[in-house]
Amino acid sequence: MVYIIDAADRVIHLDEDWVKCAGEMGREDLAPGRILGRTIWSFLHGIETVHLYRLLVRRARRGAQIEFRLVVKAGGEAQLRRMKIQAIAGGESVVFESSPIEAAEPDSTPLLSSGEGEAQESLLIVCSWCDRVKLPDETWVEVEQAVSRLGLFERETPPKLTHGVCEDCFKSLGGGDDRRDDRTTYLYVDAAGQSS
Ligand SMILES: [Zn+2]
Repeated sequence: MVYIIDAADRVIHLDEDWVKCAGEMGREDLAPGRILGRTIWSFLHGIETVHLYRLLVRRARRGAQIEFRLVVKAGGEAQLRRMKIQAIAGGESVVFESSPIEAAEPDSTPLLSSGEGEAQESLLIVCSWCDRVKLPDETWVEVEQAVSRLGLFERETPPKLTHGVCEDCFKSLGGGDDRRDDRTTYLYVDAAGQSS
């Protein structure tokens, strides 16, 4: 399944697989006529999911090759898929390509299929300056690595995100800087989709 967004995040292409899947899921709201020309933020559900995708799209536009597994609910069944996100056309348009992962493949078991691991990582910290995400082992990694390693889209719902500042950015800001609070507030508004 492939869909492409333009520089303004509007869906400009959907392939036949999309049409088929939307039909199978009985999702009339995902029919091409309802989706084309709209931004992807209008049909992705959940604040945390939207926030993570915004960070991933930003990373893709900066040249990152993004690949992770996600669980898609279709007709009461959970299907494990592989998602690839990549920028084209000079970095402005972004291609989303997802394909099913067959049960026979080595990585066909969802990392966190239940709520088991959720309790310990119920809150993820995103650095307000560099967008990196803090892992449970205290290291900071790019968002696509966090999505992949923690299986953020292989659970019922992604964990809640909060903003902080990583050690590197804290040092480069010269320690306790007053701007920190302003910036954090600004990014929270952005994350909730109320700006830009
Ligand atoms: Zn940082």
